[in-house]
Amino acid sequence: MIQLYNVSKVYENGVKAVSDLSLHIKKGEFAFLVGPSGAGKSTLIKLIFREELPTRGQVMFNGKNILRMKPREVPHLRRKIGMVFQDFRLLPQKTAAENVAFALEITGTSSREIKRLVPAVLEQVGLKDKGDLLPAQMSGGEQQRVGIARAIVNNPLIIIADEPTGNLDPDTSWEIMNLFQDINRRGTTILMVTHASDIVNTMKKRVIALQNGGIVRDEESGVYRREP
Ligand code: ADP
Ligand code: ADP
Repeated sequence: MIQLYNVSKVYENGVKAVSDLSLHIKKGEFAFLVGPSGAGKSTLIKLIFREELPTRGQVMFNGKNILRMKPREVPHLRRKIGMVFQDFRLLPQKTAAENVAFALEITGTSSREIKRLVPAVLEQVGLKDKGDLLPAQMSGGEQQRVGIARAIVNNPLIIIADEPTGNLDPDTSWEIMNLFQDINRRGTTILMVTHASDIVNTMKKRVIALQNGGIVRDEESGVYRREP
């Protein structure tokens, strides 16, 4: 699904954020991306989302070279990627249901389909009766459930989550992780940046560890640890 071949990213200021990195993420995988601050995790995500272009190397998404993509093809790529953020990034003036509906409106979904899909996806994330609440009226865990609903409603091939439990307490974090597990079992690939060592160590998923812009460890059923 995602292939990076000898990818490097040097920012305009000369900082080398990613260095000769090769990586393959297959359909259906659940992978954690770990590593200290500054390791290049955010840059790697931006390269996949085509928010940044690599200085060298190739990035393939679902068989397509994203460097060769025409500008009008970029929205199509991004529609296939559901993003989930640490700070939720909900629209504060919109209710839970409206936040999810908005993601469908911008992809041109008919209002009839929106009326059908929004309640279904809110139910899937455990927010059946919370659709009319504004983000400020919800707990952090509930807001993240809205963020996840918004990410999955367009049926993406992959969910990329950037520290999705970073603002949540341990119990709520586990509830959110169970939801991601559930989504992954339904077939959606998941790539998750996290510092939650307990979660990584318990879930025994693939662990890709970055340091100084390169992969220093890539384990099938890995653990969280600081590299020596
Ligand atoms: P971001 O990538 O969003 O900038 P940071 O890398 O700054 O986030 O880290 C977020 C939190 O995780 C901070 O509290 C930081 O101290 C902690 N953290 C960073 N790296 C590690 C690590 N290797 N192990 C444990 N905690 C870490
Ligand atoms: P992480 O997400 O693991 O914390 P980043 O990808 O954010 O790592 O950062 C990797 C390196 O690239 C860091 O040295 C950071 O300061 C630098 N960097 C990130 N974004 C930019 C940017 N837009 N311009 C210049 N340097 C950047």
